[in-house]
Amino acid sequence: MVSGSKQTAAKNILNKDLADIKGIGPAYLKRLNKLGLKTVGDLLRYFPFRYQDFSENKKIADLVLGETANVEATIEKIKTNHIWARKLSITEATIADETGSLKAVWYNQPYLEKNLPVGALVSLAGKVTQNKKAKNKLFLSNPAYEIISLTGESRSFNSKHTQGLIPVYSETRGLTSRALRYFIKPIIDEYANTLVDGLPEEILKTYKLYPLGRAFKEIHFPTSIDTAERARKRFTFEEVFLTQIHLLQLRAKFQTLKAPKIKADVDLVKQFLEKLPFQLTRSQKEALWQIMQDMETGRPMNRLLEGDVGSGKTLVALLSSLLVTRQGWQVTVMAPTAILAKQHFQTFTKFLDGFPGKVCLLTANESLLSDDGLIGSVPKPLLIKKICNGEPMIIIGTHALIQKKVKPTKLGLVVIDEQHRFGTEQRKTLGSNIAVTGGQKIWPHLLSMTATPIPRTLSLAIYGNIDISILKEMPADRKPITTKVILPYQQAAIYDFVRSEAKLGHQTFVICPRIEPPIIEGDANLPQNARKNLLAYGEWLEQDVKSVKQEYETFSQDIWPDLRVGMLHGKMKVQEKDEAMLKMMRGDLDVLVATSVIEIGIDVPHATIMIIEGAELFGLAQLHQFRGRVGRRDIQSYCYLFAKDSAKTVSARLKIMEKNNDGFSLAEKDLLLRGPGDFLGHKQSGIPDLIMNALKNTELIEAAQKEAKKILASDPTLKIHPNLLTRYEEFKSKVHLE
Ligand code: ADP
Ligand code: MG
Repeated sequence: MVSGSKQTAAKNILNKDLADIKGIGPAYLKRLNKLGLKTVGDLLRYFPFRYQDFSENKKIADLVLGETANVEATIEKIKTNHIWARKLSITEATIADETGSLKAVWYNQPYLEKNLPVGALVSLAGKVTQNKKAKNKLFLSNPAYEIISLTGESRSFNSKHTQGLIPVYSETRGLTSRALRYFIKPIIDEYANTLVDGLPEEILKTYKLYPLGRAFKEIHFPTSIDTAERARKRFTFEEVFLTQIHLLQLRAKFQTLKAPKIKADVDLVKQFLEKLPFQLTRSQKEALWQIMQDMETGRPMNRLLEGDVGSGKTLVALLSSLLVTRQGWQVTVMAPTAILAKQHFQTFTKFLDGFPGKVCLLTANESLLSDDGLIGSVPKPLLIKKICNGEPMIIIGTHALIQKKVKPTKLGLVVIDEQHRFGTEQRKTLGSNIAVTGGQKIWPHLLSMTATPIPRTLSLAIYGNIDISILKEMPADRKPITTKVILPYQQAAIYDFVRSEAKLGHQTFVICPRIEPPIIEGDANLPQNARKNLLAYGEWLEQDVKSVKQEYETFSQDIWPDLRVGMLHGKMKVQEKDEAMLKMMRGDLDVLVATSVIEIGIDVPHATIMIIEGAELFGLAQLHQFRGRVGRRDIQSYCYLFAKDSAKTVSARLKIMEKNNDGFSLAEKDLLLRGPGDFLGHKQSGIPDLIMNALKNTELIEAAQKEAKKILASDPTLKIHPNLLTRYEEFKSKVHLE
């Protein structure tokens, strides 16, 4: 154990402002701050993403071509040559130890001539390379360097850059790994042994985790790759553990709030189901049952309904809404677009036909009310007044409108459709619309829905405060969609097929990665995934990426002049977009050429073909979402992934789509192949690296969850664990989870 005075000193050091650290000047301070690093603790938690292996210490005579090694040697000569025409400078040094001599060469670092004076004893590390002209001559190319002594005398020194495993950090302009090592090493050397650990001792022992100081040392300057990994495991555990504490506390707080007690009216449900032309799937029944149980408790429900596209989430929401309005409360159903809101309104009124009650639609351009099944247009102010008066009804609209204009005073349930489309902050405010009844705050129940399957590990790690219901199976009448990767020479046949389907009254979507033709690097119109691929493949600029406008011309004039072709993209006016989409829904178009805006859950029952151009540019989960736009009836549907050529990795990825119709397993694959941003949507991908790291380790997540529960059970406010509390407070101020 550390002594009391040391504890305070150590606490101070982690909280200490970097401005107060010797050796960090104002210029560097600015760059560090830009990375979000304000305190010593922040800096120490800026972990390297890999290590350079300079652990091989060698004598010059023993160096072997191609190896990466470290030598200690004296500078015998050093000189810089400038090749002005090529804006190049070459600094060449001759170094020697007792076994021989060797050249070292640096490019564009002319200052080294001064920094590494003749006579100095230096430690160099780098790749042993062969001289192109004189093949028997080896040299070190751009080696990392450190001075041991200027006078040339040998002494023990504390290497930061050239010996052992050297940390490599993600760098920004003007802040190199070398600089970061320079700042971090002395802090670790001086304070590592005195740091106060937030993690309780028993936990460290049980899971064989390094204590904080050792972990910092080993993650930055590891003894071996194994110790570095153990250090990382400790921090991952810590991150997951703190996240779990946070989520559990949120949950506990939620449990103290009051919500309407909605009786599980089984008779009403039966009555509804008798009129339904089909059977609910088993999962739909289970989800509904869970929701009914949640809402009966009188504490606010916070449930996420996850189900693949077409699995029938709307119906579950509809039944839940029916229960709530029937008991005198209001329901808001929020959709990300006006079209989708309208579609929900139609679905709700259709299925609720014969059931007394009110359903209304509120979008920018429309305000409709269905009163006991009689649908009519109602002036918006009047409708809003009814809502503010607390009249029980189901209010369907876009989230934007409902949030801004409408204050339901008797809100019992909030349904958020396509929740992954909303930012985290937005969702927070959506759920915070509170009804005040008799001076007591009553919180609405919250049901979010998403077609984005969240892998189990991820939901364990970051959604611990939310209950999840999953619709596992598809309605029985669905035919699996036939998916095929199409190479350029096969496209013509597909175009013909589109025509023959159109003759049967079947429609086609064509998705293009871009709106407009010019390809400009960093263009904001690129889909998120494409931008990622830009980095990943680098060759994206050479690809001829299809744009909606261009393809619309080609299709409507050259390929399908006889068909009715429409266009839809994010730059069109809202009305134009609605118009195009409604035409498609009514069957007034045979083909709709669109960007990924189509992704959102629109139901076009007669669409049977989904063509995705530049399919390589999208993530698997997103491709699956597109595919979900077809196959909504019992008619056979098709998804064609247009690939540029048969570039191996790309087509292998797309081939997964051919065999796999299950959104869940695709999301898991995406997670492993490309990271979480792709399937969560970019708004949500602010997941800390360490959590990302944890996703591959279910056991660790489960252990951290178990320990968090255990601690909170005996010490709900963490009073008995002051060090943990301090760390938790700090964590909370930095991490923005729900
Ligand atoms: P999503 O989960 O993608 O939102 P929807 O709720 O829009 O799916 O449902 C897709 C279609 O399936 C709708 O036309 C809906 O009426 C229908 N549907 C829902 N449940 C069933 C079921 N159990 N059996 C048959 N069809 C169903
Ligand atoms: Mg839906």
